[in-house]
Amino acid sequence: MSFDLAARLAQRRADDLYRQRPLLESPQGPLVRVDGRPMLAFCSNDYLGLANHPEVIAALRDGAERWGVGGGASHLVNGHCGPHHELELALAEFTGRPRALLFSTGYMANLGAVTALLGKGDTVLEDRLNHASLLDAGLLSGARFSRYLHNDPASLAGRLAKAEGNTLVVTDGVFSMDGDLAELPALAAQAKAHGAWLMVDDAHGFGPLGAHGGGIVEHFGLGLDDVPVLVGTLGKAFGTAGAFVAGSEELIETLIQFARPYIYTTSQPPALACATLKSLELLRGEGWRREHLRALIERFRHGAQAIGLRLMDSFTPIQPILIGGSRQAMALSEALRGHGILVGAIRPPTVPAGSARLRVTLSASHTESQVDRLLDALAQSWQQVSSSLLAEIDAEEGEDA
Ligand SMILES: *Cc1c(COP(=O)(O)O)cnc(C)c1O
Repeated sequence: MSFDLAARLAQRRADDLYRQRPLLESPQGPLVRVDGRPMLAFCSNDYLGLANHPEVIAALRDGAERWGVGGGASHLVNGHCGPHHELELALAEFTGRPRALLFSTGYMANLGAVTALLGKGDTVLEDRLNHASLLDAGLLSGARFSRYLHNDPASLAGRLAKAEGNTLVVTDGVFSMDGDLAELPALAAQAKAHGAWLMVDDAHGFGPLGAHGGGIVEHFGLGLDDVPVLVGTLGKAFGTAGAFVAGSEELIETLIQFARPYIYTTSQPPALACATLKSLELLRGEGWRREHLRALIERFRHGAQAIGLRLMDSFTPIQPILIGGSRQAMALSEALRGHGILVGAIRPPTVPAGSARLRVTLSASHTESQVDRLLDALAQSWQQVSSSLLAEIDAEEGEDA
């Protein structure tokens, strides 16, 4: 027995699934330098343009002067610093929940919450298209794990009827690869009717959604009763890093006692919490960012439909263009690169087989004319790619003959 990594990697390449990391040589923003070239980017999750905001940078710098760099210890030892505490209070107030708990990453928040709440004999029900961190958390929890049809309260109800033990229903708020919204009111009603709890990971909703950026729960007006476990991440619209779980006093105390990814890790640098406090203020207060973003989304959808591209049912900044095959998606992404435009091609297993897509994301820091540049490049690239694919198919048919 030996590890045949070379064969595994070769297979990955042959399947058009090989991943490469573009090298970013500038701060995050619409105009970036990637792999030595200036590019116009439509692929970050910095939806409100806060990742490189001067006031957020200044808060980080001031925080480092005041608190140093490293957290130095876990929260339960002596790494729980003033700014972490202040940020938790601010996030609780922001979400309208009694308490909030800061985690170092969203992946860890999800892992921590699900594994602290569930064990053997319990049930976890997840949307088929949930983020990988939620699926991993469900599998690791040891609970009976089942996936219901995407955003389908009836499919969920069928599984709830057969659930045993403590039951947690888990869903993305805004689906990260599709951009659509979970049908939260209906899902919450089903969960409540069966005595289950609903956990929502709104990584992509906080910031763009809700009148004050309070995400999907603000959008639908759902309280603690409907969504007992609410997760937000700070690396997307907040423009910083980390994550939080918001909920009842008892929930948060339970996580502090039992969530292993909370307990056994060093607290995030306190200066980062200082930066997030500033970005939270901007995210809530500067409604013009959401309005501008909404106008860009409209403009993009209108233009893309005119070109004949297949969009998905989304009014969020996540605007995927459905392509189908991985090779075609890669070809279109490459063609766009030729036009100086960076858009990520998303392939299986991140998305279901046969649904490779270009994941266009818009940000409040884009201008209208930048969106127009994207649309022009898409129109040209789409033509290039479809005609070269047709030529390829002709050539293959020629060989067969
Ligand atoms: C990005 C993301 C995460 C992970 O958050 P990190 O802080 O980047 O680890 C979790 N859930 C969803 C839905 C995400 O999009």
